[in-house]
Amino acid sequence: MNKHNSQNKKTKRTTLNRLPQRGHYDQETLYSILDSALICNVAYVHESEPRAIPTAFVRIENEFFIHGSRVAGNIKALASGIMACISVTRLDGLVLARSGFNHSMNYRSVIIYGSGTKVDSNEEKLPILNAFIDHLIPGRSDDGLKPISKQNLIDTTLIKYPLNEVSAKIRTGHPNDENDDYNLPVWAGIIPILRQFGDPITDPKMRFPTAVPDYVKTYQK
Ligand SMILES: Cc1cc2nc3c(=O)[nH]c(=O)nc-3n(C[C@H](O)[C@H](O)[C@H](O)COP(=O)(O)OP(=O)(O)OC[C@H]3O[C@@H](n4cnc5c(N)ncnc54)[C@H](O)[C@@H]3O)c2cc1C
Repeated sequence: MNKHNSQNKKTKRTTLNRLPQRGHYDQETLYSILDSALICNVAYVHESEPRAIPTAFVRIENEFFIHGSRVAGNIKALASGIMACISVTRLDGLVLARSGFNHSMNYRSVIIYGSGTKVDSNEEKLPILNAFIDHLIPGRSDDGLKPISKQNLIDTTLIKYPLNEVSAKIRTGHPNDENDDYNLPVWAGIIPILRQFGDPITDPKMRFPTAVPDYVKTYQK
């Protein structure tokens, strides 16, 4: 597959220095990591100080959205259009090598660079805010929820980033030990990390008996 696509350009900033063979720049890889993750960390500089704030996100086509209260410090700073560096990480395994030095982790991670743009129109905001809910729980926004009000729209700032300067890095497989270290009688291998969700717990404040929806019973991300 072509590792580059027309929208995402590999730049000096997104070029890996070490192990460049682990880098990916194609849309399919980038989107699949982003769509399987639930949170991101947004780093930026505020009044000459570094900040890195975890938050929810959603990807729609080639755009990445974050949202938050219009009075939140991070949201006010990022909505002004300052540069951000956003990272998303999925941890897939612990890699136990024959030396402490070669221990590692299996992962899929994405780093996005860009300046945010505030989405102002309510018509544009509404479906994107519903997409946030469906990114977490597919099908949820269409299950008879109280509609998002005009006041909700006013209170929520939505910021978008184009996915045009993005890198992914993926590590898979067993440890890479020094040749001689394979003679050591120490266990080596991978402890896979699997994401598991528990059984749903019904809110005791439910006023009507309501069946747990299928999309909740079968929830896995
Ligand atoms: C869970 C996890 C644990 C890690 N633990 C270690 C560790 O203990 N020690 C260590 O040296 N490295 C670790 N890494 C890798 C680390 O993220 C960097 O990739 C690495 O430090 C070297 O980067 P570099 O010098 O090639 O790139 P840098 O010069 O640091 O970065 C250049 C560009 O490469 C891209 N890039 C770099 N890293 C990533 C990434 N992870 N995902 C997507 N794009 C990336 C970015 O666009 C960045 O701007 C870990 C990664 C993950 C996800």
